[in-house]
Amino acid sequence: MELIKRLFYKIDRVTLEVTSGNGFHLRPIARFVNETKALSGTVTLIKEEQRADAKSINEILSLSLEYGDRFVLEVSDRNPEQTLRRLSDFFTALMNNDFTQEQIIPKQTQEDIYLSPTIGAEVISQGIAIAPLVRYAPNIVQNTAKTDFVSAVRASIGELTTLYQSHQNDTDAAIYLAQIALLEDLTRTIGVETIKPKEDAAIFSNLIEQSIQNLQGGAFEARQLDYLDIQKRVFGHMGETTVFEAPATPFILLSDDLLPSEIQALVQQNIKGVVLKKGSMASHTAILLRSFGIPALLADIQVENGTNCILDANQALLILDPLPIDITTAEKREGEYKKLTQQAHQKRFEKTTARSGNTIKILANVCDLQSTIHAKEQGAEGIGLLRSEFMFRETEPTAEEQTNAYRNIFELFDDVTVRTLDVGGDKSLPYIQIHNEANPFLGIRGVRLFRSHPHIMETQLRAIFQATNGGAVKIMFPMVSSPQEFVYAKNFAQAVATRYGLDIRKVSFGIMIEVPAVIFEMEAFNQIVDFYSIGTNDLTQYLFAIERTHPTLQADPLSPALFAALRLLYQKSTKPISICGEIAAEKEAVGKLLEIGFSILSVAPSHIPTIKEIIRNG
Ligand code: PEP
Ligand code: MG
Repeated sequence: MELIKRLFYKIDRVTLEVTSGNGFHLRPIARFVNETKALSGTVTLIKEEQRADAKSINEILSLSLEYGDRFVLEVSDRNPEQTLRRLSDFFTALMNNDFTQEQIIPKQTQEDIYLSPTIGAEVISQGIAIAPLVRYAPNIVQNTAKTDFVSAVRASIGELTTLYQSHQNDTDAAIYLAQIALLEDLTRTIGVETIKPKEDAAIFSNLIEQSIQNLQGGAFEARQLDYLDIQKRVFGHMGETTVFEAPATPFILLSDDLLPSEIQALVQQNIKGVVLKKGSMASHTAILLRSFGIPALLADIQVENGTNCILDANQALLILDPLPIDITTAEKREGEYKKLTQQAHQKRFEKTTARSGNTIKILANVCDLQSTIHAKEQGAEGIGLLRSEFMFRETEPTAEEQTNAYRNIFELFDDVTVRTLDVGGDKSLPYIQIHNEANPFLGIRGVRLFRSHPHIMETQLRAIFQATNGGAVKIMFPMVSSPQEFVYAKNFAQAVATRYGLDIRKVSFGIMIEVPAVIFEMEAFNQIVDFYSIGTNDLTQYLFAIERTHPTLQADPLSPALFAALRLLYQKSTKPISICGEIAAEKEAVGKLLEIGFSILSVAPSHIPTIKEIIRNG
């Protein structure tokens, strides 16, 4: 019967690219495998000569598909075109929704916060904890077997399924889905259903060991812990339990590394923080620590059990045996941080009313669909800056590809400001050639591309207009230095719309204020632009003649000169004016900006909840 069915099968293929910075890793693979499971035909991933069955998580993992890798997706069934389309869309969505691991960059150590000696560490999960350090030293206890191996596997799958279902809406849900798939894969290899319980358990252990060895040194090394975790769960059902006598009083756990399931058990205890000696930011352990909100640092320290400790992950610092005055400081900082983050998260979708009674609009700076989705989740009220030069970093996109990409973004927000390509300076694209320049920050950049690369600009504008389909969008030209430059770019855009018969009556046109010359021509600009957004990153660079990427020089981001310029701009503007440079997310600057009168700020998505709360609290 199966053979007859297969006689009608056809084969089709498509080439796909891994576009997530994390690679095609365990969690998206698990979702992909889940999607292919129910298909009657065969689905294969082919990288170079290596083939992997799309129904096996281990086989896909063995392809080690990293960012930028291409592979062929091959489908053999009755209607392969349709299946391919569905799976390609599913894969693209997985890539788009797979947020690149948010790098928590340790803030510069503020030496003067604490008086005791401090130890610098890598941040896994933000927050502050004060408690004694307790070394994680669990005992493995073997009870009489509760159940045989096959039943233990089944019980483990049942448990993981329940965990997956109860976390459906959380970022960590896919960890459980991934572990289910890994476990099913391993037991399928053994052929568990044919029953030889005792031998199977031994083969299972060997397979786990082998899988761990295969991952050694590779891009997915952090996944070794998932295998150990599965083994622990299965053997747990067979009577092997891990016993850790957690103190009854609050403690900070010190451990080499932890398994995801161990964290689940520990959160029931009095755990206040975690210091890991080994591990990685991308491991499932790290993801879980962040999702449980447990402050955690990575630091290879040698210390006596029970040593008092301040773990300040907001400053990337550990303080051993702190002075009483530092404990008081840390307690105050911990209280403030907890209050702020809890309130900020809960209220992220609410309006932001400053103490003055003014409503402040918080928009997001984004660079692609993925960051736009993130902005939506963080409570953005619109997109204040779409850095379009980051949307297609590898090859020149067609007009159609661009239209689709913009359409997806426009579907998420009504208020979107698209900045036309800001290539030049420190930003380059492989398909836009700019002659070598002695001072690229003062050369062909931003709006100047309209003259040097008209075809590229035409395609971009056409795609944006097609994607709006007669609806509203804001087009913002970067690096404008004179009214003539703006008029040229706007006329250019209008000519594109006329050429392609596109309705742009609801499209508005504005400029980034990044070049100081604009300050002195605001009267003229007021007559022609629809809006302004101040790019303080570049404005600071050009005000102080200090390159923003300079390795040793740095302009003061809070300098009185910059604020004088901002005040002047605000006073002279008769059109809506926002700020989209990094300064808008600086705690120390926000109050001053509101005092000047600014009421629209555009910041990175992850800053939105806290900036809103900082404004509310004045
Ligand atoms: C700026 O210059 O402040 C800005 C927001 O633009 P970018 O950082 O992309 O140059
Ligand atoms: Mg800029």
